[in-house]
Amino acid sequence: MKSRKIRVRFAPSPTGPLHMGGVRTALFNYLFAKKHQGDFILRIEDTDQNRFVPGAQEYIIDSLKWCGLIPDEGPEMGGQFGPYCQSERKDIYKKYANQLLESGWAYIAFDTPEEIDKLRSEAESRKETFSYGIGSREKLNNSLHLPLSKVNEKLAAAEPYVIRFKMPEDENVTEHDMIRGQVTFNTTKSLDDKVLFKSDGMPTYHLANVVDDHLMQISHVIRGEEWLSSLPLHVLLYRALGWEETKPEFAHLPLILKPQGKGKLSKRDGDKLGFPVFPLQWKDPDSGELYRGYREDGYFPEAFINMLALLGWNPGTEQEFFSLDELTKVFSLERVVKSGSRFDPEKAKWFNRHYFQQKSTELLTSLFIPLLKKNGVQADEKKIHRVIVEIKERCAFIPDLWEQASYFFLPPGSYDEKTIKKRWKEDTSEKLSAIAQMLETIDSWNAETIKEKFSDFMNNKNWSFGDVMSPLRICLVGLNMGPDLFVICEILGKNETISRIHTGLEKIN
Ligand code: GLU
Repeated sequence: MKSRKIRVRFAPSPTGPLHMGGVRTALFNYLFAKKHQGDFILRIEDTDQNRFVPGAQEYIIDSLKWCGLIPDEGPEMGGQFGPYCQSERKDIYKKYANQLLESGWAYIAFDTPEEIDKLRSEAESRKETFSYGIGSREKLNNSLHLPLSKVNEKLAAAEPYVIRFKMPEDENVTEHDMIRGQVTFNTTKSLDDKVLFKSDGMPTYHLANVVDDHLMQISHVIRGEEWLSSLPLHVLLYRALGWEETKPEFAHLPLILKPQGKGKLSKRDGDKLGFPVFPLQWKDPDSGELYRGYREDGYFPEAFINMLALLGWNPGTEQEFFSLDELTKVFSLERVVKSGSRFDPEKAKWFNRHYFQQKSTELLTSLFIPLLKKNGVQADEKKIHRVIVEIKERCAFIPDLWEQASYFFLPPGSYDEKTIKKRWKEDTSEKLSAIAQMLETIDSWNAETIKEKFSDFMNNKNWSFGDVMSPLRICLVGLNMGPDLFVICEILGKNETISRIHTGLEKIN
């Protein structure tokens, strides 16, 4: 076979926000293209006017940008094979529909949607399913058996019609799938006469998809498993249009399954199960409902991409952390599995923790500042920096920083009752007051000196550390958590530390 330039496309329909499964399809296309020095194309498949959702196309483009999956050709940057939105290619498709009519691979059907609905419900009442195709088409209102004069009459009267594919009878259509191997479909058993061209003058997905893949010189179609059942029709369309020679290769990616492992991860699962299924937050333009996004939930795109790459693909080694660059080097479709892969939201968090720990303190500081502001805190950058150094290890997300560190910036609003019950003894207040007094005498306020003076003081009094450390922590932090107590004292500063001890004593007693 002659070698051809690798050209792949990600072809979403802008019918809503991009699901994370869609992002994975885009990712695998991107990786395959880059691995082979090929082109990654974004094509918007918006021929179904009824399903158009405002903002969805922009959402798709923004999502790919956030993930770093920048197309080589697409609606934004254009390219040699544009336009890249099918609605702008409307005039291209009719010609091919006509070609199929002329060659007998398609026919004109005048049945109205109401008539078809009626046939469907009649079949249902007989516990059957209606399909427009091999078994039924001879009895229906179409050009296969209406006299030509009648067909022309109807066309002249501008009666609405669709163009349907004429599925050949009892043929086994076999195609090679790069992930699944040989797949075979019997036309009579499983395929109906799909509409190729609609009465509104628009092609359907099937026609537009095949025509565009051909015209855009797509070499490999990499898409979700849900399109596998369309494969035989597409293969027959290539044959019918005389394009078999340059037909792309196909790879159908496995499903992403729910965390419980059963069933496809759906758009609704995220809200039910408490994790995002969309890359970015999405506000439904009709209902105003808000859907969570990985970006807004504090995920780094590197973590999101790394996690997605391992859903259905494995490197064949123990390595788990991959940058996008590394992925483009090691990715191969041969290592994509056939079976569905279970999505594990905990693993997603685990990846984020890893990338969080890799971030510089400077970057984390700049990401933390807006969150501090949101909580009404205006703090010195040096202090924020220092706090992050101390608590970074405990965090996986930017919002964790606030959870782990708010007390460095605001005095505790409440005191943990459980710890108080357990640790607050009769003489605790007296001891803490004495400690506050001792702290007053310290001049060089740093963790090391504080610790030294504190230890001397405790030894002199013959008091045990164990008795006072928790109560002291409760006064400063509010909770029994946080890094080394003397480090907390140093960061809070002398005045604030002493004043928190006094306030704590007042409120707790
Ligand atoms: N427009 C289809 C979708 O929304 C594209 C399927 C394909 O890649 O052929 O997923």
